Amino acid sequence: MMRKFGWMALLGALLLAAPSVFAQSLVLNGVTVVDTHNGKLTRNQSVAIDGGKIVQIARAGSIKPGAGTKVVDARGKYLVPGYLDMHVHSLNEPDPTASLELMLAYGITSVRQMSGSPELLAKRRNGQLKLPVDGPELLAMPGTVLTGANAGTPEAAVAEVDRQKQEGADFIKVIDVKPDPFFAALGEAKKLGLVFDGHLQSTSAIEKAADEGMSAIEHLGPRESVLLGCSTDEDALRKAIAAKPPQAPPSASGPGPAERALRATTNPTMATDPVNFDLMKRVVATYSDDKCRALMKRIKKDGMWMTPTLIRLRTMEFGDDPAYRHSPNLRYVPAKTQILWQEMADQFPKIVTPGRRAMLKKFWALQLRLTKLLEDAGVPMMTGTDSGGVGHWEISGVALHQEIDLLHQAGLKPLTILQMTTLNGAKFLHRDDRMGSVAVGKDADLVLLDANPAASAANLHRINAVVRSGNYYDKDALERLKQDAAKLAAG
Ligand SMILES: [Zn+2]
Repeated sequence: MMRKFGWMALLGALLLAAPSVFAQSLVLNGVTVVDTHNGKLTRNQSVAIDGGKIVQIARAGSIKPGAGTKVVDARGKYLVPGYLDMHVHSLNEPDPTASLELMLAYGITSVRQMSGSPELLAKRRNGQLKLPVDGPELLAMPGTVLTGANAGTPEAAVAEVDRQKQEGADFIKVIDVKPDPFFAALGEAKKLGLVFDGHLQSTSAIEKAADEGMSAIEHLGPRESVLLGCSTDEDALRKAIAAKPPQAPPSASGPGPAERALRATTNPTMATDPVNFDLMKRVVATYSDDKCRALMKRIKKDGMWMTPTLIRLRTMEFGDDPAYRHSPNLRYVPAKTQILWQEMADQFPKIVTPGRRAMLKKFWALQLRLTKLLEDAGVPMMTGTDSGGVGHWEISGVALHQEIDLLHQAGLKPLTILQMTTLNGAKFLHRDDRMGSVAVGKDADLVLLDANPAASAANLHRINAVVRSGNYYDKDALERLKQDAAKLAAG
């Protein structure tokens, strides 16, 4: 047979057949590829994966799998990039294995760690930061978060930013820093080419932070720090905040400092002092949609990003919601943490009195509104959860899906939510050359869905399979990861 064709013909046949003669480790057959840039669907495709990368996308049936290739019948399924949780604290857990595997089970193939340390950075530098294979990739990690402790003065703040750059921090995370050191740190980070991301204190105006190049804000503030810019009474409120007396020291009979700090981190709303509850009430009463729209335009112009973490805000503000208290997903949470969360939920009504509860309900409605105005203004946003730490009712993996539902509740378009969960994090990190969309050459970190996520964000829950670095996890494999996480939590 071969002799008849001659060598040139044989070479031609080989070239034509080239993609099919190489053994593919995985082929998804008959799938609909979802374009994360515009929601466009390309039906009836075959996607070939090898060496952890997408190597070919062609009309279904045109890729002939080599020997040993796993072939998946993906007809009727939708293919999107793996999900990104752009705000986690998993690496601060004593052993994050269960949390990270649980994330993969829920479709998360990459995470951004939002709090680091010199120890974590050193471990990573020395190649000792071992993460589970059945878990997401670590995209970025900062050094120690900036607070009054390491950035109390402009000089200390600048020195800390320099040190973190030396230690290999990917970005600077700021939490609780007074205006002068805050802006000194921001200036230094910009000088060094580091992203400056985190919390904005109510003493630092959002307009100034945006104008001076703060890269992103987490948690829509937190609290009132962004919404202050939407208040018709902004100037008076800022003066009141600047003049605010320091919080009264806790009573001697209460829990010790470590326990107090743990509880304040678990649910900051429960550690809010009375003066601040009143401030939030005034922010709600003086909210202007027009002023807010103008502010969002300015943020957009300045190129600032946002990670709303609505699930963090809602679990804080509705800390005794029966839906959280009786969630079947608590099986993934160690008993000790469950006891703390339930105890705090018992105490919640004592701190969040009926009047404060009514105010928080309105405040929450404004946070949803703010999220929608951010979308309207075209401010780029990322899906993040704040899970992996001690956050009240925050369960790794699960929280991302709650976040998706809350973004939908805020009125965001399905395409916006899909982009926030896949493409935008890649863009923010300038890694869209290798992730964020389903295309040849991109990482084979993928989620296979039973329904079209560009039509409804709820379809992002309908995970049929996950591909992580080319490895295929079907429904049973994902379920096994969940069972393992529950077993580990039960101890
Ligand atoms: Zn956080």
